[in-house]
Amino acid sequence: MTLTFEPAPAVLAPTTTGESFPVRRLFCIGRNYAAHAREMGKDPDREPPFFFTSWAETVVPDGSTIAYPQATSDYQHEIELVIAIGKSGRNVSEGDALGLVYGYAIGLDMTRRDLQFIAREAGRPWDAAKNVEESKPLGPIHPAAGLDKPNGAITLTVNGVTKQTGDLADLIWSVPEVIAHLSGFYRLEPGDLIYTGTPAGVGPVVEGDILVGAIDGLGTLTVTVGPPAR
Ligand code: MN
Repeated sequence: MTLTFEPAPAVLAPTTTGESFPVRRLFCIGRNYAAHAREMGKDPDREPPFFFTSWAETVVPDGSTIAYPQATSDYQHEIELVIAIGKSGRNVSEGDALGLVYGYAIGLDMTRRDLQFIAREAGRPWDAAKNVEESKPLGPIHPAAGLDKPNGAITLTVNGVTKQTGDLADLIWSVPEVIAHLSGFYRLEPGDLIYTGTPAGVGPVVEGDILVGAIDGLGTLTVTVGPPAR
Protein backbone atom coordinates (compact mmCIF):
# COMPACT_ATOMS: atom_id res chain seq x y z
CA MET A 1 0.00 0.00 0.00
CA THR A 2 1.25 3.44 -0.87
CA LEU A 3 0.42 6.09 1.67
CA THR A 4 -0.94 8.96 -0.35
CA PHE A 5 -3.22 10.66 2.16
CA GLU A 6 -2.54 14.08 3.59
CA PRO A 7 -2.00 14.50 7.35
CA ALA A 8 -5.05 15.60 9.29
CA PRO A 9 -5.25 19.40 9.50
CA ALA A 10 -4.71 21.02 12.88
CA VAL A 11 -7.88 21.83 14.79
CA LEU A 12 -7.99 25.62 15.13
CA ALA A 13 -10.35 27.00 17.75
CA PRO A 14 -11.46 30.64 17.30
CA THR A 15 -10.71 33.20 19.97
CA THR A 16 -12.43 36.52 20.61
CA THR A 17 -9.26 38.35 19.53
CA GLY A 18 -9.31 36.86 16.04
CA GLU A 19 -6.33 34.63 16.78
CA SER A 20 -6.67 30.89 16.28
CA PHE A 21 -5.93 28.53 19.17
CA PRO A 22 -4.40 25.28 17.87
CA VAL A 23 -5.97 22.46 19.87
CA ARG A 24 -3.52 19.85 21.12
CA ARG A 25 -5.22 17.53 23.67
CA LEU A 26 -8.43 17.41 25.67
CA PHE A 27 -8.61 16.53 29.36
CA CYS A 28 -12.12 16.19 30.80
CA ILE A 29 -12.86 16.19 34.53
CA GLY A 30 -15.60 13.90 35.81
CA ARG A 31 -18.21 14.62 38.50
CA ASN A 32 -17.06 18.10 39.50
CA TYR A 33 -20.43 19.46 40.71
CA ALA A 34 -22.05 17.80 43.73
CA ALA A 35 -25.59 17.84 42.35
CA HIS A 36 -24.45 16.17 39.12
CA ALA A 37 -22.47 13.54 41.01
CA ARG A 38 -25.65 12.71 42.92
CA GLU A 39 -27.74 12.45 39.75
CA MET A 40 -25.13 9.98 38.45
CA GLY A 41 -25.66 7.90 41.59
CA LYS A 42 -22.38 8.84 43.24
CA ASP A 43 -21.46 10.44 46.56
CA PRO A 44 -19.92 13.85 45.86
CA ASP A 45 -17.36 13.71 48.64
CA ARG A 46 -14.06 15.32 47.82
CA GLU A 47 -12.36 12.30 46.34
CA PRO A 48 -9.43 13.34 44.16
CA PRO A 49 -10.53 14.65 40.76
CA PHE A 50 -10.49 12.10 37.95
CA PHE A 51 -10.30 12.69 34.25
CA PHE A 52 -10.48 11.11 30.81
CA THR A 53 -9.10 12.31 27.49
CA SER A 54 -10.47 13.02 24.05
CA TRP A 55 -8.98 13.59 20.61
CA ALA A 56 -8.42 17.16 19.46
CA GLU A 57 -10.52 16.39 16.38
CA THR A 58 -13.64 15.91 18.56
CA VAL A 59 -13.73 19.73 18.91
CA VAL A 60 -16.18 21.55 16.60
CA PRO A 61 -16.98 25.28 16.60
CA ASP A 62 -19.95 27.33 17.75
CA GLY A 63 -22.85 27.03 15.32
CA SER A 64 -22.06 23.46 14.31
CA THR A 65 -24.57 20.79 13.46
CA ILE A 66 -23.25 17.64 15.10
CA ALA A 67 -24.13 14.16 13.91
CA TYR A 68 -26.08 11.86 16.21
CA PRO A 69 -23.44 9.16 16.71
CA GLN A 70 -23.74 5.48 15.97
CA ALA A 71 -23.88 2.81 18.70
CA THR A 72 -26.04 4.74 21.15
CA SER A 73 -29.69 5.43 21.89
CA ASP A 74 -28.93 7.78 24.80
CA TYR A 75 -26.71 10.64 23.60
CA GLN A 76 -26.62 13.30 26.33
CA HIS A 77 -25.57 16.93 26.78
CA GLU A 78 -23.06 18.15 29.40
CA ILE A 79 -22.39 21.89 29.47
CA GLU A 80 -18.94 22.77 30.85
CA LEU A 81 -16.46 25.56 31.52
CA VAL A 82 -13.36 24.95 29.40
CA ILE A 83 -9.84 26.11 30.32
CA ALA A 84 -7.49 26.82 27.39
CA ILE A 85 -3.83 26.31 28.31
CA GLY A 86 -1.31 28.77 26.86
CA LYS A 87 1.92 27.92 28.71
CA SER A 88 3.54 24.60 29.53
CA GLY A 89 3.97 23.35 33.05
CA ARG A 90 4.59 20.16 35.04
CA ASN A 91 3.91 19.73 38.77
CA VAL A 92 2.48 23.24 38.94
CA SER A 93 1.35 24.54 42.34
CA GLU A 94 -2.17 25.83 42.80
CA GLY A 95 -0.65 29.27 43.34
CA ASP A 96 1.06 29.20 39.94
CA ALA A 97 -1.70 27.38 38.05
CA LEU A 98 -3.52 30.40 36.64
CA GLY A 99 -0.26 31.47 34.99
CA LEU A 100 -0.72 28.62 32.48
CA VAL A 101 -4.17 29.80 31.40
CA TYR A 102 -4.62 31.43 27.99
CA GLY A 103 -8.36 31.78 28.35
CA TYR A 104 -11.79 30.31 28.95
CA ALA A 105 -14.67 29.09 26.80
CA ILE A 106 -17.99 27.31 26.90
CA GLY A 107 -17.88 23.66 25.89
CA LEU A 108 -20.13 20.65 25.55
CA ASP A 109 -19.01 17.15 26.56
CA MET A 110 -21.52 15.11 24.56
CA THR A 111 -21.72 11.59 25.96
CA ARG A 112 -23.05 8.18 24.91
CA ARG A 113 -24.58 7.72 28.39
CA ASP A 114 -25.67 4.13 27.77
CA LEU A 115 -22.12 3.13 26.86
CA GLN A 116 -20.74 5.09 29.83
CA PHE A 117 -22.93 3.18 32.28
CA ILE A 118 -22.00 -0.16 30.71
CA ALA A 119 -18.31 0.72 30.95
CA ARG A 120 -18.68 2.02 34.48
CA GLU A 121 -20.40 -1.13 35.71
CA ALA A 122 -17.76 -3.30 34.06
CA GLY A 123 -14.85 -1.18 35.32
CA ARG A 124 -13.79 -0.50 31.73
CA PRO A 125 -12.47 2.67 30.07
CA TRP A 126 -14.89 5.40 28.97
CA ASP A 127 -13.42 6.04 25.51
CA ALA A 128 -16.41 4.78 23.51
CA ALA A 129 -18.75 6.83 25.71
CA LYS A 130 -16.83 10.08 25.69
CA ASN A 131 -14.27 10.25 22.87
CA VAL A 132 -16.90 10.53 20.13
CA GLU A 133 -16.67 12.29 16.76
CA GLU A 134 -17.96 15.91 16.97
CA SER A 135 -18.72 15.44 20.69
CA LYS A 136 -16.79 18.39 22.13
CA PRO A 137 -18.27 21.63 20.71
CA LEU A 138 -16.31 24.68 21.85
CA GLY A 139 -17.31 28.34 21.86
CA PRO A 140 -14.89 31.18 21.15
CA ILE A 141 -12.02 31.31 23.64
CA HIS A 142 -11.97 34.49 25.72
CA PRO A 143 -8.40 35.45 26.75
CA ALA A 144 -7.95 35.40 30.50
CA ALA A 145 -6.14 38.73 30.39
CA GLY A 146 -8.78 41.34 30.99
CA LEU A 147 -11.23 38.75 32.23
CA ASP A 148 -11.89 38.09 35.88
CA LYS A 149 -11.51 34.50 37.00
CA PRO A 150 -14.67 32.97 35.54
CA ASN A 151 -17.57 32.97 37.94
CA GLY A 152 -21.31 33.06 37.85
CA ALA A 153 -24.02 31.04 36.21
CA ILE A 154 -23.55 28.13 33.78
CA THR A 155 -26.69 27.03 31.95
CA LEU A 156 -27.90 24.94 29.03
CA THR A 157 -31.23 25.15 27.22
CA VAL A 158 -32.62 22.61 24.77
CA ASN A 159 -35.11 24.12 22.31
CA GLY A 160 -35.46 27.09 24.65
CA VAL A 161 -36.20 25.01 27.75
CA THR A 162 -33.67 25.27 30.57
CA LYS A 163 -32.17 21.83 31.32
CA GLN A 164 -28.90 22.46 33.16
CA THR A 165 -28.18 25.18 35.69
CA GLY A 166 -25.26 25.66 38.02
CA ASP A 167 -22.76 28.15 39.28
CA LEU A 168 -19.02 28.03 38.78
CA ALA A 169 -18.70 28.66 42.51
CA ASP A 170 -20.06 25.12 42.97
CA LEU A 171 -17.13 23.43 41.23
CA ILE A 172 -15.86 20.80 43.69
CA TRP A 173 -12.35 21.22 42.23
CA SER A 174 -11.54 24.81 41.28
CA VAL A 175 -9.71 25.91 38.13
CA PRO A 176 -6.29 26.15 39.90
CA GLU A 177 -6.83 22.82 41.65
CA VAL A 178 -7.71 21.07 38.38
CA ILE A 179 -4.65 22.47 36.58
CA ALA A 180 -2.33 21.59 39.47
CA HIS A 181 -3.76 18.06 39.62
CA LEU A 182 -3.46 17.34 35.88
CA SER A 183 0.08 18.74 35.79
CA GLY A 184 1.02 16.05 38.28
CA PHE A 185 0.42 13.45 35.56
CA TYR A 186 1.47 15.27 32.37
CA ARG A 187 3.35 18.37 31.37
CA LEU A 188 0.48 20.57 30.27
CA GLU A 189 1.19 22.21 26.92
CA PRO A 190 -0.09 25.21 24.97
CA GLY A 191 -3.14 24.06 23.03
CA ASP A 192 -4.42 21.75 25.74
CA LEU A 193 -8.07 22.13 26.73
CA ILE A 194 -9.52 21.14 30.08
CA TYR A 195 -13.28 20.48 30.23
CA THR A 196 -14.02 21.04 33.92
CA GLY A 197 -17.19 18.99 34.46
CA THR A 198 -20.92 19.57 34.19
CA PRO A 199 -23.63 20.75 36.57
CA ALA A 200 -26.83 18.82 37.22
CA GLY A 201 -29.56 18.36 34.64
CA VAL A 202 -27.87 16.24 31.99
CA GLY A 203 -30.22 14.49 29.62
CA PRO A 204 -30.74 12.97 26.17
CA VAL A 205 -30.92 14.80 22.86
CA VAL A 206 -32.65 13.88 19.60
CA GLU A 207 -32.17 14.94 16.00
CA GLY A 208 -33.29 18.54 15.51
CA ASP A 209 -32.61 19.70 19.05
CA ILE A 210 -30.98 23.10 19.42
CA LEU A 211 -28.65 23.34 22.41
CA VAL A 212 -27.63 26.76 23.74
CA GLY A 213 -25.06 26.91 26.51
CA ALA A 214 -24.19 30.07 28.41
CA ILE A 215 -21.64 31.08 31.04
CA ASP A 216 -21.53 34.56 32.58
CA GLY A 217 -18.90 36.58 30.76
CA LEU A 218 -18.27 33.97 28.05
CA GLY A 219 -21.29 34.48 25.82
CA THR A 220 -23.14 31.52 24.38
CA LEU A 221 -22.50 28.30 22.46
CA THR A 222 -25.15 27.03 20.03
CA VAL A 223 -25.19 23.52 18.57
CA THR A 224 -27.82 21.67 16.54
CA VAL A 225 -28.17 17.90 16.73
CA GLY A 226 -28.15 16.57 13.18
CA PRO A 227 -29.05 13.27 11.54
CA PRO A 228 -27.16 10.04 12.27
CA ALA A 229 -23.45 9.98 11.53
CA ARG A 230 -22.52 8.71 8.08
MN1 MN B 1 -18.32 15.95 31.29
